[in-house]
Amino acid sequence: MTDSGNSGIIFDIQKFTVHDGPGIRTNVFLKGCPLRCLWCSNPEGLRSKPQVGVYSNRCIGIDKCGLCLRVCPKTEEGALVIKDNLVDHINREICTDCLACAEECPSQGTLKIWGQEMLVPEVLEIVLADREFYEKSGGGITLSGGEVFLQWAFARELLEACKTEGINTCVESALHCDPNLLDIVYPQVDLVITDIKHMDSEIHKTLTGVGNQRILDNIKKTATMGLPLVIRVPVVAKHNNDDINLRATAEFIANNLGNQVKQVQLLPYRELGVDKYEALGMAYPMADITPPERIVWEANIHHLVELMQEYGIPAVAGTTKKYDI
Ligand code: SF4
Ligand code: SF4
Repeated sequence: MTDSGNSGIIFDIQKFTVHDGPGIRTNVFLKGCPLRCLWCSNPEGLRSKPQVGVYSNRCIGIDKCGLCLRVCPKTEEGALVIKDNLVDHINREICTDCLACAEECPSQGTLKIWGQEMLVPEVLEIVLADREFYEKSGGGITLSGGEVFLQWAFARELLEACKTEGINTCVESALHCDPNLLDIVYPQVDLVITDIKHMDSEIHKTLTGVGNQRILDNIKKTATMGLPLVIRVPVVAKHNNDDINLRATAEFIANNLGNQVKQVQLLPYRELGVDKYEALGMAYPMADITPPERIVWEANIHHLVELMQEYGIPAVAGTTKKYDI
């Protein structure tokens, strides 16, 4: 259990969100994740350290500018790769993530820094700016990621500051973490949103890089501790969308989580975040998978919702249907 305390590395703050918890919310995304889900749409949240993404088409041109090359300590070694007079990409084998190129670049969005160290009061100020909207809508703050529990001390402090201000708090987490961290963070949490990606641990490992035992144990512990839960099932054709897996998921929920589950949301896989993979020089893991047509996945989700409802589970399609906590 290590975490540096009251500053955190944040890769995004989104205001006026309505999908991750009740009401109007501010979503704060913490950087770093121990999972590598094939369908992840936030590759900029995977690594813990800040990093630079390259959007080459916005570059002014080396002949007119070239500032990045001048400040990069690894220019001689070829960290910034030039093509047709533009910065094309970063050679990640050489780059030290010093961020100097992005800090100097005058063309906004060409070299984008993902990840910024922020103090609890700085984030709190941004969150509190929308207090009236939370009060009118029953909303609040949602911590997401990445994985919230990788920065558990910062998360706890920020959530505690929000609770002190009377702001509703929600944590969205894969729950692949030391179970003792739940005891530390949960006293400041009003709602937990988590995923069940596959009930077979071996298959779970091929889809996410880790087995599921720790996650399922933590979901059970969350319910035992009395936290309301929203469970999400990402439905990915040919990976986890078969009846056997969904029945096993439904049985796990019905047998272990009782009335703590406020909603089970079945979400279709969508090809999102491809441009961010490219900007970071990462291969898109689902590049060889074509998502099914809308009519096909809608029918599949509808069928799986009905299947889960057979178990008395409050299953729905998507994230827009209301629930009480
Ligand atoms: S982050 Fe630093 S080392 Fe990497 S390309 Fe930019 S200036 Fe060079
Ligand atoms: S500093 Fe920015 S705009 Fe200028 S050459 Fe480098 S990437 Fe292009």
